[in-house]
Amino acid sequence: MIRAFNVRIYPNKTQRTQIHKTIGCSRFIYNQMLSERKEVYERFRDDKDALKKHTYKTEKQYKVKFPFLKEADSIALQASREHLFKAYQNYFNGLKKGRKVGFPKFKSKKGKETYTTKQTNGNIKIDFKRKKLKLPKLGWLSFNDKRVFSEEIKHATIKKTKSNKYFVSLTLKAQEDVKELQEVHEKDITAFDMSAKNFLVNDLVKMENPRFYRLEQKKTKKLSKELSRKKKGSKNREKARLKLARHYDTIYNRKKDWTHKLTRKLADAFDAIILENLNVKGMQKFNSGLAKSVSLDFSWYQFTTYLKYKMEWLGKHFVLVDRFFASSKLCSCCGWKNNNLTLRERVWTCLDCGTTHERDENASVNLRDEGIRILKEEKYITIIHDDKTTVGTTGSHAFGDDVRPKEILQNLFGQFSRKKESITL
Ligand SMILES: [Zn+2]
Repeated sequence: MIRAFNVRIYPNKTQRTQIHKTIGCSRFIYNQMLSERKEVYERFRDDKDALKKHTYKTEKQYKVKFPFLKEADSIALQASREHLFKAYQNYFNGLKKGRKVGFPKFKSKKGKETYTTKQTNGNIKIDFKRKKLKLPKLGWLSFNDKRVFSEEIKHATIKKTKSNKYFVSLTLKAQEDVKELQEVHEKDITAFDMSAKNFLVNDLVKMENPRFYRLEQKKTKKLSKELSRKKKGSKNREKARLKLARHYDTIYNRKKDWTHKLTRKLADAFDAIILENLNVKGMQKFNSGLAKSVSLDFSWYQFTTYLKYKMEWLGKHFVLVDRFFASSKLCSCCGWKNNNLTLRERVWTCLDCGTTHERDENASVNLRDEGIRILKEEKYITIIHDDKTTVGTTGSHAFGDDVRPKEILQNLFGQFSRKKESITL
């Protein structure tokens, strides 16, 4: 199991120059090695044996040819070669399995400004007391983060953003594997339907989509306008570009922070969480006709990624129900399928049993049932059904365990709803 630790770092001028050098050199050697591979392939394309036996040039040989590479972090160059190898491997594995994986591409200067380096004989170190991080060729860098971990650092990815900030993502080796829960109480299972309007909804609670980008739309427009007015290549244009990039950074961080906190609370509160697996097409379904700020705000992928790993760290269960499962169309009371249900219909009545459903609520009940079936039949998890008459009647507590999920959810959602422009977390 691998965990990641992301922090902003504050390199000084010398360190910044060194970071830029290594980013450039990592990209350069990657592109060199890719073109070498392409040439070799062309040369031996009709002789598979010769192609297999061919040995490619190493970083050392490249350093002789291009001495400036010596100035970069040498382990980062090695990591570049490994990345390329992995990209090839992914491509060929994709071919075998009939999946479409792109052929490795040349890295452009306009692309992501990043490089990865690996732990080798203690070259990457962290000092939580001094809030300093040691990276090869850079020495000690300051960071600002309260979190502490004891896991071994596997590798570090250094990144420069468009707003000229620097971040490090440390990949950690988890000390021990967490044991998966084999028994889950029904009351500790929850499911949500997700849409652009209702971020999370089920039969107990509803949380409107927090509109982080939408709320800042006015400012975004103003800053974009200012940028477009500036002369190309001018200093003022660069200033305006930075302003806009920082503005986007702020919104992104606000949203990321909110998502981390929400997923942490959900993962703590429940032993199994069930959601629908929305594919790209499904996302378009939700986002079609919506303003860009709305689609930016509905980040299903970010939410599910955070939630999934947080649940897994705790040995809990995260279930994505297949998108082909007709969660919206099934009547959650009798199982009748409403094949005529359109996307616009928010409320519908079952023609078999006569129950009137709210679309999203009904979908969440179906998702929950399907998720429980998957847990039992595919993951062999024992689901414990708590009888209301025997649980929760001890002592002077007036409420039984059956009300726990609703209370928990209402409490939790209350903390995370963002009705006003101010963000209180
Ligand atoms: Zn029905």
